[in-house]
Amino acid sequence: MVLLSVSNLKKYFPLQKSFIERVISRRKQYVKAVDGISFIIREGEVFSLVGESGCGKTTTGRLIVRLETPDSGKIVFDGKDITFAKEKELRPLRRKMQIIFQDPYASLNPRMTIGDAIAEPLIIHGIADKREAREKALEMLVNVGLTPPELFYKAYPHQLSGGQRQRVVIARAMILKPKFIVADEPVSMIDVSLRASILKLLMKFKKDFNLTMLFITHDLAVARLISDVVAVMYLGKIVEIAPVDELVENPLHPYTKALLSSVPTIVPQMKREKIILKGDVPNPINPPSGCRLHPRCPLAIERCSKEEPKLKYVGNNHYVACHLL
Ligand code: SF4
Repeated sequence: MVLLSVSNLKKYFPLQKSFIERVISRRKQYVKAVDGISFIIREGEVFSLVGESGCGKTTTGRLIVRLETPDSGKIVFDGKDITFAKEKELRPLRRKMQIIFQDPYASLNPRMTIGDAIAEPLIIHGIADKREAREKALEMLVNVGLTPPELFYKAYPHQLSGGQRQRVVIARAMILKPKFIVADEPVSMIDVSLRASILKLLMKFKKDFNLTMLFITHDLAVARLISDVVAVMYLGKIVEIAPVDELVENPLHPYTKALLSSVPTIVPQMKREKIILKGDVPNPINPPSGCRLHPRCPLAIERCSKEEPKLKYVGNNHYVACHLL
C-alpha cells in the first residue's frame, strides 16, 4: 500500500538581492531547489534520495513533513492531501511523521536533560502525563542502547558523544511511534566507526514498528545498505529511480554511473563503465537548458541541451530520464 505520494512537487526560493543589485535589475531570481519531482513510497519501505549537496534532497524532505510549503504539486500522506494543509490540520499528523536531522547537537535543546527531551513530545501531544512520559522515555533510552537509562535521563546534550546524541534524536522521534520518518543524512556528522550502529538502530525500528522511511544521503554506499528503493537527484530533478539492487547492478543514467564510479567498494567484483563528470555542479539559480547534466555529461548529444528528458519506465520498476534510452 502506498503511504506517501508526491507529484510534480516544486519549491523555488527567492534570491535575496543587495540594494545595488535591485537598482540594476528588478527581475526576481529564484533558486530552483525542487523542480517537479514525483515518486511514491510504499508502507514499510526505505526509500533513499541520493545526490550531491545542493541537489534539493533536504528541501524535499522538509516539504514532505511540511516544514516548508511547496509552490506547487501534490503531497498525499496516508490518504490525505497535505500539500497546503494549515498548521492546525498538520498537528495530528505530526505524530505520524517525524524528521531526524543531520546535526544531532543542533536538534537538542542544550538546557534540557536528555530524558525530558525524549519525554516532551508525549506531553505536547497529550499522550502521557509527566510520570508516564518519564517511564516511556526510560524504556526508549534502553531501546536505543543508552544504558543505564537513569544516568542518561539526567544528562545534558553536551555530556554525550555525537553517536549518543544521534541515538537521543532517534529516541525522541520514535517515542511517538510514527508511521513515517524522514532521516536527513542521519550518519554524516557521526564518527565513521559509529555509523553502522546508528543504521542498525534505524533498521531495528523499521522492523519492530513497520516503519516507512525517506532516507536522505549523499552516499550511495550507505543507501545500498539500508534502502529498498533509491531515487537519484540532480539539480532539483529526479534522474533515476529503481529498486536498490537493480540501480546498483544496472545503473542507466550517466549521473548515477558517475556516482557509482566514485564508490568502488559497493560491488567490488562488478566491472562497470566508469563515468567521470566534467566541471562542477552548475548554479541552481540558472540551471542549464534541456537536460541539466548536459554541460558535464560525457555522453551528451545535441538534443540534450535543447530538450528536457522525462522520466521513462524501462522495466523492472526502473525509471530513467535520459535521451539515450
Ligand atoms: Fe547525458 Fe543527454 Fe542523458 Fe542528459 S540526456 S544524461 S546530457 S546523455
